[in-house]
Amino acid sequence: MRTRKQVYLDHSASTPVDPRVVEAMLPYFGEVYGNPSSTHRFGGRAERAIEDARISVAGILNCQPSEVIFTSCGTESDNLAIRGAGWSARHRGQPSRLVTSPIEHSAVINTVKQLGALMGFETQIVPVDNFGLIDSEIFAEACQRGGALASIIYASNELGTIQDLPLLSRIAHAHDMLLHTDAVQAGGQLDLDVERLGVDMLSLSAHKFYGPKGVGLLYVKDGLELAPSQSGGGHEHGMRAGTHNTAFIVGMAKALELAYDENDQRVQHFTEMRDHLIQGILDRLSCAELSGHPDRRLPSHASFILHGIDANALMMHLDMHGVAASSGSACKTGNPEPSEILLGLGYSEDEAKSGLRLSVGMQTTEDDIGYALDVLETAADKLGKLKREMAR
Ligand code: PLP
Repeated sequence: MRTRKQVYLDHSASTPVDPRVVEAMLPYFGEVYGNPSSTHRFGGRAERAIEDARISVAGILNCQPSEVIFTSCGTESDNLAIRGAGWSARHRGQPSRLVTSPIEHSAVINTVKQLGALMGFETQIVPVDNFGLIDSEIFAEACQRGGALASIIYASNELGTIQDLPLLSRIAHAHDMLLHTDAVQAGGQLDLDVERLGVDMLSLSAHKFYGPKGVGLLYVKDGLELAPSQSGGGHEHGMRAGTHNTAFIVGMAKALELAYDENDQRVQHFTEMRDHLIQGILDRLSCAELSGHPDRRLPSHASFILHGIDANALMMHLDMHGVAASSGSACKTGNPEPSEILLGLGYSEDEAKSGLRLSVGMQTTEDDIGYALDVLETAADKLGKLKREMAR
């Protein structure tokens, strides 16, 4: 084994804040401290920074600045989209059915389930194929039954699979359904042009693209009515009350700008590192099966089922040797329950406890990948043997 190093392969959980983003945020922790809603010049400076950030984000999303709602995180954006559209449809006396998929982040699936359980919303979870792709025919049948909203994840946090959003939005619209997408994992890597994607709402979170944690946004197509889930002052066109976090909003816009200015280089680097990792694991770990789609997957994302290996024990072993990975979504780390998403794809309970996610970033090097592969091979060998011995 080589000398121990620190290798961070969990960029799907969070990314480090880019020093250029920190630099852009600094004035808003110090000299520009006014409340952006105040009418005096102190407030005015902060408000201008927020409106500049909104214009910059809108340029990348190809939407109007007024269609960008700033929130406190990706989870809040998802909640606002689903509750807002559901409540609003119900208030208008329109069908309030909610359609989603089994591979959504908990921010979406638990919100849909809660609306179903507590408020009697009819919900439908459309199945996906073995790669995690939505079956467009079943999706069409689900939309044909009518409803308030379909919410489909753009790129899966657990599988990396990328959905065909232009197709899904055409289907949803043909049946007068709105389409929201959780684009939290896609942000900074995939096309976010809302016209091309055809979506009505789109959620992002800054900490997935080298911005700060605790800030996100929701694109809401002009004219769409959303009942606010957080009431208070009239911030964000009355859709999201609460004093703006000026520094973080500025930081998010800067991070998004950098991600798309440098998109070609970043995606090329991520793809090279990811493919190196996938090839290495499939060559060296006989127990490994790639999960998610082989081609339609996030450039930074590699995920596997390691047959016969307990992923939580593996995580501990990797961590002891300086390698940060995830056994599924970050929110589940340390949770010995099988992954709901893998169960939903038809994997057994044991297989659903053997998921491994490795996600590369801007600083990942070939050497990091080589080191992680060595550690992984040794750990998988040990744990595999242990499991076989215990089974005897
Ligand atoms: N949606 C997806 C797909 C995610 O991966 C995450 C975070 O892991 C979220 C939503 C939640 O975002 P946040 O951490 O900003 O609440």
